[in-house]
Amino acid sequence: MNILTFDIEEWFHLLDFDATRTESEWGKYEVRIYENVDRIFRILDESNTKATFFIIGWVAKTYPELVKKIAAKYQIGSHTMNHQLVWQQSKSEFKEDVTSSIKLLEDITGQKVECFRAPGFSVREKDAWAYEILSEAGIKYDCSVFPAAHAHGGMPSYPKAAPCVIEYKGVRMKEFPVSFTTVAGKHIIFSGGGYFRLLPYSLIERWSRETSLNNGYLLGYIHPRDLDPGQPMLKGLPMARKIKSYIGLSSAEKKLRCWLKDFQFTDIATANKSIEWSQAPVVKL
Ligand SMILES: [Zn+2]
Repeated sequence: MNILTFDIEEWFHLLDFDATRTESEWGKYEVRIYENVDRIFRILDESNTKATFFIIGWVAKTYPELVKKIAAKYQIGSHTMNHQLVWQQSKSEFKEDVTSSIKLLEDITGQKVECFRAPGFSVREKDAWAYEILSEAGIKYDCSVFPAAHAHGGMPSYPKAAPCVIEYKGVRMKEFPVSFTTVAGKHIIFSGGGYFRLLPYSLIERWSRETSLNNGYLLGYIHPRDLDPGQPMLKGLPMARKIKSYIGLSSAEKKLRCWLKDFQFTDIATANKSIEWSQAPVVKL
């Protein structure tokens, strides 16, 4: 199965940049979310593709009508309320952040929220306590595992590029990790964000085909900003961040259209029905 996911956040929701880190600044920036989500709707409509949308609570609070529109057609999940890194919060702060986002999304949409993705894939092995909190909050499916090195999180030693059951202190969480391929013994990510923007489509296509064939699974993650070449450049960004955040913006939409033509994607709810979880690999953290 191939699963497509979107993290619904604004173009300025970058994680390692102090000026945009907290909510107090977010109201000052240009609003691009309507235009960018409309673009995603058009692309999905053309290929009749289902997808799961992980939405920041702040977006839901600020633009509830947009979130209703997403939920009318697509599965939704939580991307926390305030888009903060998991390991920068205390357990109680994280709990409050997650539970309030779920309640808000459920109140606005009437849809049950059972899926979650941490901002910046910020659940590392040592942050496995997050699974206890997610499970208590009613989350049944997690998409926070980035099985490679990552600036904000990552589990480079995560063993499988396929759905797994994560076990931690008696909690069993169904996990849909980001896909990876292995080059010279290292996990290489190619199916989302800056990696998708940077890599040529021929390589994305090849690794997608191989990964899908070897694991019966491919998971893509795209942000609205990945497809928006018209977004402003944030002032004062360090050079490395500038390159990471703005590279490949003009070709990403075309690549995504090709990807959805060459591979059939669906959402987590649909994929979940085809998984025999009792046979799934167990990853103990
Ligand atoms: Zn995010």
